[in-house]
Amino acid sequence: MFLSSRFLIVGLLFVVIEGPAHTQPETAPYDIVITGGRVLDGSGGPAIETDIAVRDGRIAAIGRLADARAQTVIRADNRLVTPGFIDVHSHAGEGLAADLNHGQPVLAQGITTVVVNPDGGGPVDVAAQRATYEKNGIGPNAAFFVPHGSIREQVLGMQDRAPTAAELQQMVNLVRAGMKAGAVGLSSGPYYAPGSYAKTDELVAMSKAAAESGGVYSSHIRDESDYTIGLVAAVDEVITVAEQAKLPGIVTHMKALGVGTWGKAATAIQHIEAARGRGVHVYADQYPYEASGTSIEGALVPRWAQVFGDEAMIRRAKGDERGKLLEDMKTNIARRGGAESLLIARFQPDPTLEGKSLDELAKAAGKSAEEVAIDLLVRGGAGLVSFNMTENDIELIMKQPWTMTSSDGGLGPMDVGRPHPRAYGAFPRKLRLYVRERMVVEWAFAIKSMTSLPATVFGLKDRGVLRPGAWADIVVIDPDKVADLATYAEPHQLSVGIDTIVVNGRLARLDGKFITPLPGKVVTLER
Ligand SMILES: [Zn+2]
Repeated sequence: MFLSSRFLIVGLLFVVIEGPAHTQPETAPYDIVITGGRVLDGSGGPAIETDIAVRDGRIAAIGRLADARAQTVIRADNRLVTPGFIDVHSHAGEGLAADLNHGQPVLAQGITTVVVNPDGGGPVDVAAQRATYEKNGIGPNAAFFVPHGSIREQVLGMQDRAPTAAELQQMVNLVRAGMKAGAVGLSSGPYYAPGSYAKTDELVAMSKAAAESGGVYSSHIRDESDYTIGLVAAVDEVITVAEQAKLPGIVTHMKALGVGTWGKAATAIQHIEAARGRGVHVYADQYPYEASGTSIEGALVPRWAQVFGDEAMIRRAKGDERGKLLEDMKTNIARRGGAESLLIARFQPDPTLEGKSLDELAKAAGKSAEEVAIDLLVRGGAGLVSFNMTENDIELIMKQPWTMTSSDGGLGPMDVGRPHPRAYGAFPRKLRLYVRERMVVEWAFAIKSMTSLPATVFGLKDRGVLRPGAWADIVVIDPDKVADLATYAEPHQLSVGIDTIVVNGRLARLDGKFITPLPGKVVTLER
């Protein structure tokens, strides 16, 4: 609870009487003044005790402002005041478009900007997606990736072949259209079908189109484990794309997945360091959990079985190729730590299975885990939570100065069943567990990974920093209390400890109450 008066934030309303604004513009009251807090401006520098004033959506002043007039004065004693967080890998896109909760699970984490359409997925028509957001309004700010996998599927379907020159031109043109609509770069998922059917040269060609407008390349890499080419070669592919297409390359939600890959984060980091040493712009982002969230198709089904889409896959599962499929899925279950490491997150035909492990289901059915997985697949597929990382790798990746923070969480349609708790807890979890409790990284370093670092990498001008003239995206954090409450068993729990949130100069949240429902804006690339 938040009843100790020491921790209360008090919002005060002043009625100001003065002459016409045009005679004394410099003395007009501020919209908001945040006073008494310790300010981490997002740059990674130390905290400074100072005040911040907001007017017309922007930061108007920073300094001693305790006596300044303002419509709302927020006391931030014993609190950290930081830029709002930027989530560079968010599946909230679909949920934001038809949002019933105004992005509250996102905002409560202190996230004021999300980058949607990651992993090569999401709408090809970024202009239409943007128009929907602008028409309906959004909770947090949103920026867009233009998604490689969706573009490939639109042009080539689920075929496992290279595009013709004409098809590649069509794909490149779609990237250009997305960038023109304001996207911040290209996302890809060469791990997933149909992205996996793309060779490196296709990714380079499309990244060049993103680079023309200053975009980035963010990739759910071809292999985070030892499925195909292995973690290190897959990181090398991002480096190759970044180097050849001359744009920032991002290894998104970087991890070393599965028993056979544990410990290899160190080598992947060395390769990134070497590339950076010769001037290639390579970065990573990370969500702070030992489990990933995926689907049976994503985690267990081999890509050969997905050629030509779902119906073809089901035919294979029931037909001559069932034996081969079972064998490959058995291998993939072992790779991910065994059936007890895989939890059913979402199974709409029978939600009573949600929260159970594949191992429990197999034992109850008297079948092998791979047979149960195929049964679920034939009945429509299931979401999975997959425990597959080690703390050593997580911490090593987190400590890199080029690693940003992300959630990989979804809203709305993604937020049914027992989804991965990252959708509600990723950012506060990093602050609670890895900063406050384990001291793996320091406050200023962690805040930078959530604010100015992503803003710089993605070209989000005047975001992710606290300085006069910047957009007023500001959060007030209780460093002793900030915490994720969402767990694997109970994932739908708002995070706590970030009770005051300003988005574009408007109070999204004050004293724990959500106030302005849709203060977000579409954010576009501006370098
Ligand atoms: Zn992903």
